[in-house]
Amino acid sequence: MNLKHHFASLGEAFSSKTLVQPLLEQRLVEFNQSLASFLSIDIKSTETKRILSGEDALPHSLSMVYAGHQFGGFSPQLGDGRGVLLGEVRGQDGLLYDLHMKGAGPTPYSRRGDGRAVLRSCIREYLASEAMTALSIPSSRALALYDSREAVYRETPEAGAMLLRVAQGHIRFGHFEYFFYQGKQAELDQLIEYCLTHYYPECLAAESPLESMLIEVVKRTARIMAKWQSVGFQHGVMNTDNFSFTGETIDYGPYGFMEDYEPDWVCNHSDHEGRYAFSRQPGVGLWNLNCLMRCFSKHLERDQLIAILQCYEPELQSHYDVLMMSKMGLDSAQDVYALLPSLLSILASEKMDYNVFFRLLSRLEQGVYTPILDEVVDREKMSVWLERYEAVRVKSVHAWSQVNASMLTVNPKFILRNYLAHEAILSAERGDYLPFRRLLHVLTHPFDEHPESDSLAQRSPEWGRSLEVSCSS
Ligand code: AMP
Ligand code: MG
Repeated sequence: MNLKHHFASLGEAFSSKTLVQPLLEQRLVEFNQSLASFLSIDIKSTETKRILSGEDALPHSLSMVYAGHQFGGFSPQLGDGRGVLLGEVRGQDGLLYDLHMKGAGPTPYSRRGDGRAVLRSCIREYLASEAMTALSIPSSRALALYDSREAVYRETPEAGAMLLRVAQGHIRFGHFEYFFYQGKQAELDQLIEYCLTHYYPECLAAESPLESMLIEVVKRTARIMAKWQSVGFQHGVMNTDNFSFTGETIDYGPYGFMEDYEPDWVCNHSDHEGRYAFSRQPGVGLWNLNCLMRCFSKHLERDQLIAILQCYEPELQSHYDVLMMSKMGLDSAQDVYALLPSLLSILASEKMDYNVFFRLLSRLEQGVYTPILDEVVDREKMSVWLERYEAVRVKSVHAWSQVNASMLTVNPKFILRNYLAHEAILSAERGDYLPFRRLLHVLTHPFDEHPESDSLAQRSPEWGRSLEVSCSS
C-alpha cells in the first residue's frame, strides 16, 4: 500500500498527530473488495491489515482541526473528535483518496466525547455511503468495518466499532472558517493553495484560480443538493463542518431516505426546529456556501463573492430538472414544470412512498393505471394526473417501452429504509452479518430486480416508521 501524507505536510496548524487506538478484540468483519482493488490496496495482506486497523502505528496519522456553524451557531473550534486520517492513496483514476478511520479513539478535539463510534452508526454509515454511490451521488465510501467486544456508552452500553472510510477529501467548509475567524491569513492562504493543487488543479490556469475554484465548489454543492432532493435523501446535520469542499456527501449520522412523500419531514430527532427538514436542504446548501464565501472576504471583492454565490441556484435548478426528466421519462424541463408540482402535491396528500411511486411509474403501461391507482385513496385525482402525463409521454420521439426501460435504470427498486438498517444492526449486534450483507448487496445494485429479495423493496411496516434516529452515535 502506497500511503502518502500530503495533508500532514501542511503542518501543525492544521492537525494533530493522532494514532488509531484499536478496540478490544477488534475484528475485521466486512471489507469492500472492489473499492480496495480500485485503490490498489491488498486488504488481505497481513501488513496492510495491521496498518489499517491501527495495530501498527502510523507515524503520520492525524486528526484535523476545523470549525463550523452548527445549527446556525458558530463553534470556533471543532475537529476530528473520533476520526483519524491515515493518509492518502492514489486511485485507478489517478486521483488521491483519503483513508479515514472513524471511531478510532480520543483525539485532541474530542472535547467531552469518548472518540468512539458504535456498531449501529458504523453500519448505518456503511450502508448509506455505498447506497448513495450506487445512486450516482458523490459520497464518502466504506472500505472496511471492524467490530469489537468493547463497550461504548451511549443511552445504554453498545458495541464499539470502527469504520474505515474513503473520500476524495475531508476538507470541510469549516476548515476555512477555522482560520478565517482567527485572522490566520497565512494558514488560510496555505489551505487555498493546497485545495487548488490537490483538488482543483484545472483552476490553476484561470485568471483568478481562487474564484474559479469557488465557482466549482458552489456548482458541486448545488448538484449534490439537486441529487439529494431527487432521490429523497435527507442528511440530518447539515452543519458547515459536515459540508465537504470537494462536493461529497460526508458524515452520515441521523440521515434518512424519504419513504412517504412529506416535504417537511425531519429525520433527525434532535433537530427540534426542523432546521434541516427535507424541503429546506437546498436553501441550507446556499446558507452554508454563504458562510464559506465570507472566509474569502479578504481575497475577493464583495461583488465577486455575490456573483460566485449566484451560480448556485441556476446550477441546482438545471441539474434537478435533468434528474427529474429522467425519473419521469420526460423530454424537456417544460414537461417537468407542467407535471411535477401537481404530482408532488398528490404524493404529499396521499402520503405515498416516493420511491415506490417512481418505480411503479417506470412500469406504467399506456392506459393501464390500476397498479398506481390501487395505491391511492383519491383515484380520480391520480387518474386525471396520469392522463395528463400519458398525453405528454406519447408525444415523445422515443418509444414508450424504451422510455420505461431507461426510467428503470434511474428509479431504484431498493432504497435504504430505516427499519431495514435497524434489522441489519440488531443481527450484527448478535454477530450475524448476513442480513447486513444481503441488504448491502441490493443497495449497491438498486435498479436490478433481485426477485429473491423482494421483501427488501416493500414499504416499512408500521413499527418501522416510528423508529427514531438522533445525533447520538
Ligand atoms: P457530527 O455533527 O456528528 O459530524 O459531529 C460533530 C462533532 O462532534 C465532530 O467534531 C465530531 O468529531 C465530534 N464527535 C461526535 N461524536 C464524538 C465522540 N463520540 N467522541 C468525540 N467527538 C465526537
Ligand atoms: Mg461531522
